[in-house]
Amino acid sequence: MSGKVPGRSNLLGLNRSELEAFVATLGAKPYRARQLLKWIYRRGESDFARMTDLAKDFRAQLADVAEVSVPEIVSARTSADGTRKWLLRMPGAAGNEQVIETIFIPEPGRGTLCISSQIGCALDCSFCATGQQGFNRNLTSAEIIGQVWLANRELGREPDGERVITNVVLMGMGEPLANYKNVLPAMQLMLDDLAYDLSRRRVTLSTSGLVPQIYRLAEDSNVALAVSLHAPNDKLRDELVPINRKHPIAELLAASWHYLERQNGRSVTFEYTMLDGINDQPGHARELAVLLRGHDAKVNLIPFNTFPGTRYRRSPAATIDRFRDLLAQGGVMATVRRTRGDDIDAACGQLRGQVLDRTLVRLGSKMVRLAVRA
Ligand code: SAH
Ligand code: SF4
Repeated sequence: MSGKVPGRSNLLGLNRSELEAFVATLGAKPYRARQLLKWIYRRGESDFARMTDLAKDFRAQLADVAEVSVPEIVSARTSADGTRKWLLRMPGAAGNEQVIETIFIPEPGRGTLCISSQIGCALDCSFCATGQQGFNRNLTSAEIIGQVWLANRELGREPDGERVITNVVLMGMGEPLANYKNVLPAMQLMLDDLAYDLSRRRVTLSTSGLVPQIYRLAEDSNVALAVSLHAPNDKLRDELVPINRKHPIAELLAASWHYLERQNGRSVTFEYTMLDGINDQPGHARELAVLLRGHDAKVNLIPFNTFPGTRYRRSPAATIDRFRDLLAQGGVMATVRRTRGDDIDAACGQLRGQVLDRTLVRLGSKMVRLAVRA
């Protein structure tokens, strides 16, 4: 966090009840917390002195004990297709410096922000650049919501005053359900009408399948759920998504249907990265259709995004289209995700921050990359 002063509480990332509890420690009424929410998130203000409807004494008191500390931007790039990518500096677990990535994808009528939840990822999916990087640490809730805060500041408003970020997806670096405790308050702030006020259908959590946490989420939140399936049977999924050995497909699907029912959701999206010759054959499509038909499920086919050192290749476009058609014939709706921002390495699964790629250091039993800026 830039400007993080030791001993001061960072108010960024506290959800409404946590902020109410905080202002209570200063002897202030709960409505002060509501005012703070509006200032920090709706108006993007980080300086208490400028929060003019707070009493002067209260502002001074806040400035003594608290701060709104946001991550620091290392670099910003814009792709030919308008996709934007920010690299944010983060202190790493071993005291070294790391970077994470936040991506903004503009489309007609909507703007999607793709945020990270961890530095690296421990789950080691074989086709994912983040997984290959290893795990460094969880992001704090301030660092998670701080990505939305910063992107909002950088993007401003549309000329007509409309907001630019209409959707947030937790599909950047990391497995959000492995960082449940920090992801939940950040998502609550995305939905809170005094903070970002996004509708529950416009916030999507993507998971590779941490089954117990999906049940927990069903009690705590109602955001849209995306599940990274990538294979129609356990034999293949064990290979691609190793967490499947712990939580096989049948359990994962049961948890997904439970979530949908408990939260009265519209559908679960199943992500399926198309790997040439691996999971893209007609037989796989038919097997997948049998698994999903009759449920409120949508399949999102993601053309594999390559990265240095990977053994996989992207399925040809014709193979992906045929796979989609076979799913449709099998009664399952599928769409093909258009790849965006790949000229700036901002596409799915390419998120590992090129600046990280210079030096490897040992952290416990793992090799992690030390951020050395180019
Ligand atoms: N950890 C979470 C969210 C982050 S990954 C998850 O796995 O769901 C977001 C999506 O990108 C996931 O569906 C993931 O499987 C997919 N993905 C990972 N690497 C990819 C690659 N190289 N090409 C295309 N998609 C990839
Ligand atoms: Fe982690 Fe998701 Fe990548 Fe798997 S696909 S290694 S869970 S970030």
